[in-house]
Amino acid sequence: MRYLLLMIVVAAGVFLAGLWQHWEGWPWRDVPRRYNPFAPLHVDDPPSLLTRIKRERIAHDPKACRATLEQARRAGEVAYRAVGSPSIGQCQLHHAVRIRSTSVDFNHSFLASCPLAVAWLRFERHQLQPAARDLFDAPVRHVIHYGSFACRNIYHRKDARRSAHATAEALDIAAFRLADGTSVSVQKNWAKHSDDDRRSRFLHRIHEGACQEFSTVLGPGYNAAHANHFHLGVDGFSVCR
Ligand SMILES: [Zn+2]
Repeated sequence: MRYLLLMIVVAAGVFLAGLWQHWEGWPWRDVPRRYNPFAPLHVDDPPSLLTRIKRERIAHDPKACRATLEQARRAGEVAYRAVGSPSIGQCQLHHAVRIRSTSVDFNHSFLASCPLAVAWLRFERHQLQPAARDLFDAPVRHVIHYGSFACRNIYHRKDARRSAHATAEALDIAAFRLADGTSVSVQKNWAKHSDDDRRSRFLHRIHEGACQEFSTVLGPGYNAAHANHFHLGVDGFSVCR
């Protein structure tokens, strides 16, 4: 009797699975892109538990990464030029791009590995601009950075490992100018001067948000070397300080 019941349950399971296949096809096919672990990371998809997994996937799949970036370019979210994989000094870039502008413009265009470019676009879209709109009711228009590519070791020390900047996998950002004229600087505004200090709240909020899109986020709370900028990196070391 027990075996008969078991067989009926198994047969019913096989039958239902067949129906599912017939009607729905492969279960992931109709899952919205943001919840589908097999769909590539997209700039527009809101951050989720899958973001990190998908970020690691595009880091190892240059073609998928370029497709994501190309999609963002077609949507008018970024202007860039592909620079390929040049050797500069002792350093080798892989499928790098030069970012000219995004939803913001920059003090200088900058070199970026493809995963850094995608992480920056996602950060802007899901963290930077929403924080600016919430706190100041105005978008960020201009970002001042201290550079992304530098062929050097960390802290310029001979015995240290290569910096993420040596492969254009990190961007140092220092200040922001908003559409309403507000200026926010990491150096001047990180420390809170009152409970209602919007500039400080803005910086703390985007620092925390950056940790969802970049693997390495270092700011003034980390050490004196970062008192005037946020280091935003995608080189795989998971740090948020
Ligand atoms: Zn840095």
